[in-house]
Amino acid sequence: MSEIVMVNPATGEELGVKKTWSHQHILDAYEKAREKSLTFRKTTIEQRMEEIRKIKRYIVDHMESIVEGLSADLGKTKSEALLMEIFPVLDCIKYYERNVAAILSDKKIKTPIALMGKKSYVFYEPLGTVLIVAPWNAPFTLSLVPIVSAVLAGNTVIYKPSEIATYSGMLMEKIFKESGFEPGVVTFVYGKGSEIGDTLIEGKPDKIFFTGSTATGKVILEKAAKYLIPVELELGGKDPMIVFEDANLERAVNAAIWGSLFNCGQVCVSLERIYVQESVYDEFVKRVVENVKNVKQGWDTKGEFDIGCMASEDQIKIVEDHLSDAVKKGAKILSGGKRKGKTLFFEPTVIVDVNHSMKIMREETFGPVICMMKFTDEAEVVRLANDSMYGLNASVWTKNRDKALQVSRAIITGGVSINNALMVQANFNLPYGGVKQSGIGRYHGPYGLYTFSNIKAVIIEKGKKPKDINWYPFRADKYERFLTTFKSLFSEKTTAKLKGLPSMMKLMRSKE
Ligand code: NAD
Repeated sequence: MSEIVMVNPATGEELGVKKTWSHQHILDAYEKAREKSLTFRKTTIEQRMEEIRKIKRYIVDHMESIVEGLSADLGKTKSEALLMEIFPVLDCIKYYERNVAAILSDKKIKTPIALMGKKSYVFYEPLGTVLIVAPWNAPFTLSLVPIVSAVLAGNTVIYKPSEIATYSGMLMEKIFKESGFEPGVVTFVYGKGSEIGDTLIEGKPDKIFFTGSTATGKVILEKAAKYLIPVELELGGKDPMIVFEDANLERAVNAAIWGSLFNCGQVCVSLERIYVQESVYDEFVKRVVENVKNVKQGWDTKGEFDIGCMASEDQIKIVEDHLSDAVKKGAKILSGGKRKGKTLFFEPTVIVDVNHSMKIMREETFGPVICMMKFTDEAEVVRLANDSMYGLNASVWTKNRDKALQVSRAIITGGVSINNALMVQANFNLPYGGVKQSGIGRYHGPYGLYTFSNIKAVIIEKGKKPKDINWYPFRADKYERFLTTFKSLFSEKTTAKLKGLPSMMKLMRSKE
């Protein structure tokens, strides 16, 4: 068993020490969670919703102290904590308060004429005990949204926060305890992924919902395959922003700055590659360099700063590596480009003259970097946008709606915002997830409940007849009737359809 020392990355203040869980402790937790799931799966949707409401009320009543806790854990500003962490969780709960009953209620489904006399339904049932593994960059949202979804779908949850966000994990555990949430439904497990990851999978959860890097996602998928555990993966991104010459330039400049720097660039759908059409490129870059000077960076105690510091030394090293690789290959840093002293505050950075041979345009940078490249026409920019192993989100900026839609369809990605950035996940009605190496699966909205459900197909028959026509015995005359019936049933000609009717009627009435 090892320990995790929790430190405020902005001030260096130690926040506490947490013991990590042992192999046996985790397997025992699975056993208890499985036992609990046998009763929890029988609760009504309203009972589950009532448990979730306890969390909502607690968050609303303790909003400021939660904001302070999240800021202290990760060095994010108070506004970032409020907008990126608290709001999406409350919005998710509000959405499900309104919609969970309709989404999870049994659905009557059409039954084709060939199955006359039967009725068809879909039931949404819990999977059992699910494992949720979360990253550090938005630990509150990226943990609570899947946890809430899994619980509403009737599952018990084993949840592991990132070791870098252990303090946020403990904060959430406190919320569950102090709000009076039913004990045993959600179990908080602490530890480093590299140390306890294998045990979490050996516990054989009924599903793994993983949010984190593409590299770890692949490891989890491979290990889960041994037990055939279904896996949803919400992974990394390298989102393109495409600015055409007819875009509202002022708005696009403001978005480029906000969308690249928000949460110090540590957002999966951050604007990591900005492509600007050549006729407006110089003006766009000039305005970005001017406006970025107004971005206020610091340790935020009053809500007055725009961005804070980076969450870890490791993350700073990635940003430094990408910038130095780009500069070596000919890119120019126009602003920032370094950390302040020995702190984790990395200056907002503007870099140009980049190209796709550089790590900064190929790998996830996850830092406060505004990275811009020129393009000539639509065909070229679509090719550039798609020249990536990632496909999480994208944004398209133009006043021409048809062009915006055409480009949105041409980009291979999980979501697109037109004349906006980082917006798709803000509408909880919309599905959220990536394609290519950005992930597998969708959540949010109805998808968030279905991903944690056994979607069961049911056919009901009154059961009065001794047997169905497709059962034994098969005979030559019965075969002929099936043949004529199927030919007519699937024919596109009306005469052929009518011709098959007598055979069909005979089959229906047949007692064998
Ligand atoms: P990470 O992959 O290093 O860690 C994510 C989680 O996995 C942590 O809890 C970690 O402890 C755990 N883990 C690590 N190795 C494991 C293993 N072998 N088995 C089981 N669990 C293991 O990612 P990170 O650095 O915490 O997060 C940043 C990444 O997450 C970025 O790539 C970012 O784009 C991505 N992300 C994606 C989304 C999305 O919605 N698509 C959202 C936020 C972050």
